Amino acid sequence: MISKLDRLQTSVTSFRVAASKSPFYRESPSPAKPRWVEVLVDYDRQEVEDQKLYTYALSQNLQVQPGDILSVPFGRQQLGAIAIRLLSEPPADLPPERIKSVQEVISAGFFPPSYWQLLNQVATYYHTPLMRVIRMALPPGLLGKSQRRIRLTNSIPTAAQVFLNPPAQQLLNVLTSSKTGDYSWRYLKKQVRQAQRGLQDLLKRQWVESYLEPPKPPRPKRQQVVTLVKFTVPEPEELTPRQQEILRVLGRQGGEVLMTELLQQAQTSSGLIKTLEQKQWVVIEEQEQLRTDRHPMPDRDTPKPLTPAQTEALQAIQGRSGYHPFLLHGITGSGKTEVYLQAIAPILEQGQSILVLVPEIGLTPQLTDRFRARFGAKIRVYHSALSDGERYDTWRQMLQGTPQIVIGTRSAVFAPLPHLGLIILDEEHDTSFKQSQPAPTYHARQVAQWRAQLENCPLILGSATPSMETWFSSGLEKTSTRLSLPERVENRPLPPIAIVDLRRELKQGNRSIFSRSLQDHLRRLGDLQQQGILFIPRRGHSTFVSCRSCGHVLECPHCDVSLSYHYTHEGATERLRCHYCNFSQLQPSHCPECQSPYLKHFGTGTQRVTQELAKLFPELRVIRFDSDTTRTKNAHRTLLTRFVQGEADLLVGTQMLTKGLDIPGVTLVGVVAADGLLHQGDYRAGEEAVQILTQVAGRAGRGDDPGQVIIQTYSPDHRAIQAVQQNAYATFMEQELQEREAYHYPPYSSLVLFRFSGLDLMEVQTAADRVAEVLESRAGSYQVLGPAPARVMRVSDAYRWQILLKFPPGAEIDLPSLGELRSLCSARVSLHLDIDPLNFG
Ligand code: ADP
Ligand code: ZN
Ligand code: ZN
Repeated sequence: MISKLDRLQTSVTSFRVAASKSPFYRESPSPAKPRWVEVLVDYDRQEVEDQKLYTYALSQNLQVQPGDILSVPFGRQQLGAIAIRLLSEPPADLPPERIKSVQEVISAGFFPPSYWQLLNQVATYYHTPLMRVIRMALPPGLLGKSQRRIRLTNSIPTAAQVFLNPPAQQLLNVLTSSKTGDYSWRYLKKQVRQAQRGLQDLLKRQWVESYLEPPKPPRPKRQQVVTLVKFTVPEPEELTPRQQEILRVLGRQGGEVLMTELLQQAQTSSGLIKTLEQKQWVVIEEQEQLRTDRHPMPDRDTPKPLTPAQTEALQAIQGRSGYHPFLLHGITGSGKTEVYLQAIAPILEQGQSILVLVPEIGLTPQLTDRFRARFGAKIRVYHSALSDGERYDTWRQMLQGTPQIVIGTRSAVFAPLPHLGLIILDEEHDTSFKQSQPAPTYHARQVAQWRAQLENCPLILGSATPSMETWFSSGLEKTSTRLSLPERVENRPLPPIAIVDLRRELKQGNRSIFSRSLQDHLRRLGDLQQQGILFIPRRGHSTFVSCRSCGHVLECPHCDVSLSYHYTHEGATERLRCHYCNFSQLQPSHCPECQSPYLKHFGTGTQRVTQELAKLFPELRVIRFDSDTTRTKNAHRTLLTRFVQGEADLLVGTQMLTKGLDIPGVTLVGVVAADGLLHQGDYRAGEEAVQILTQVAGRAGRGDDPGQVIIQTYSPDHRAIQAVQQNAYATFMEQELQEREAYHYPPYSSLVLFRFSGLDLMEVQTAADRVAEVLESRAGSYQVLGPAPARVMRVSDAYRWQILLKFPPGAEIDLPSLGELRSLCSARVSLHLDIDPLNFG
């Protein structure tokens, strides 16, 4: 059990009650001033680390409150720490003179009390040390660590160098080759073999010294600003013509300009401006510049008159006070975003802030533009692609508590907004809200729910294709309210969806990856000057095996999931495995259903599709939109803008395309082979397939021209395909729930996944076996499945195995400590825990 951690967390939680009312109002010093503080040190070890509290003394002039971020001496280093609790007496077992002092307060008031409780809840539920959760929530670099560095001392007698041992000589060479004669010890160790031996030699001779450089937490960026302070016309003898010219430039700019800009615009030097300051015409001041996301403002828009369904949804949301979760289930293009915007407006007006979570950055530009158009500068964007400085500034800005709307991805659920009045998760079904590695393996929806509870505010989960969890809670479980927008606005029809049977295409001699029907539509795109999207459902290496003649898919007889093909090496026997229970069989030479010899491993990539397009339709202009082409910072925005502006006829890409794109010109949506989604080899495959296909189909016909969707597949009769074609999401989910119940999958159980990986297959397998044995012997309330290889067994040379635990619904997740389990594994095998896993790859 992770009992030590639990105990600490209890104590940390109970301290909360005693904390100040709000971190933004510092308590006035009481008569008996506490002179000691217990802190949590950012002590960098694996998660087995004991989360001990350490006591430090406070010097007279230092004001510290719980939740402040401090810098403290720890061993030989200077580390970041968080103040947990103030003491008015030192601990009895520690002589006061041995207690070290807090060095400085890096940042005050970082943790509002409810925020602190949230972090504790995350740590407990996801079985992660609190410090690790804190580190993830904070902007990077804030909890700095001091660095050991080596530098040359003043005098080194050249002649004596020959007596040095070889590593010492090499160290000396490296150091003298640098301008400053100063390097980090880490760097030197990488440059020189046996560097430790060399260093000892050099230290003994006192030719170098070793020192600790204190951490450098991010600092606010400051810039010089020049402000005009005298507004009279200068007497001719008072200023030179050049000086007068500078004042005119300054005046034209509104009287206040950044020094750098003024220098450029007035073609002058800073000396001249300083003279003007001496003459008291201007002042030069340092001002803080926030490095927050700056974007051109889109045109202002105003609230739209709502449709009856939108009105009903909005009234339901506004009709309740305090914490309550809502599912806003609106088909694609039904106007969910307009409901969000109108739900936000009054809350913002009351002086509260709003948190909006979205799945992916690719989607944010369009959405943020719509929010900016409505709310102007009150919008902040917060996500992990910001630079460290930008993140730090956005944090500090949020802490000031001005009412605002923060839009961000998964990690923004930890944005430290005080006075939170509403949380919205758009596309709440999206699996990118779940972190599968590293710990804590949190789901932003779960964390958002806790947060809304702590803040006592509403939570809106919006989607055209709600997750099973939310479907269940707003249906059978009745813990949230389901609101529906069943029609597109302005009576736009949903596009018709045609299913193309690829088995028949093969039979009729078409070996291309495009059916004849899809080819016809692609050809017409160019003629009609319309735009299309080609979607390639592919996730990593797809590995299931199916029959190209009858569409039969080989499945595990025990787990109701498809079997995976694992490529190990050239010429290996072709075995198929279940990566839940490890059932395996040889790949048959003929289809067990129809005896056809055409059994096929699945997988078609974007590249192959674009090549084929170039061959068949050289006149179509194509943009590839996948993880390869969208790697750079603004690539998403740039590619989409180019497409929206009509620079291409066709957007070809993977999963990323499915997320909320609203491009009016798109009439055609083609799915190259849906089968990659249907047989993912895990229990969520069906749910995810319907979600993705419905979402991608919803990209067609959002403008004035009607759309057409073509889904190609070898399994046209699959339940998921049928549900998508008939727009029968609710029916599908109800059937799916029954299947989940029959096989005890979530929400009728809770899952915990142990992931093992390492370069040596035997070591990984042995570790997994040992851990499974211990888990079996404990006989908790769980069932142990596996060990079995992960769906993609080998990733960048590492072999991956896993064990799945199934708990009864609502059961307490009690597990042996990770530290204990890790001690059963070879040091070269890594073991990670995933609570409520969604990704079994
Ligand atoms: P969803 O988020 O459900 O996919 P959107 O909010 O993007 O739907 O709405 C689709 C389109 O309809 C958008 O262009 C939006 O501006 C427009 N729209 C939404 N609500 C209304 C309304 N009440 N009246 C007119 N147009 C609307
Ligand atoms: Zn067959
Ligand atoms: Zn199985």
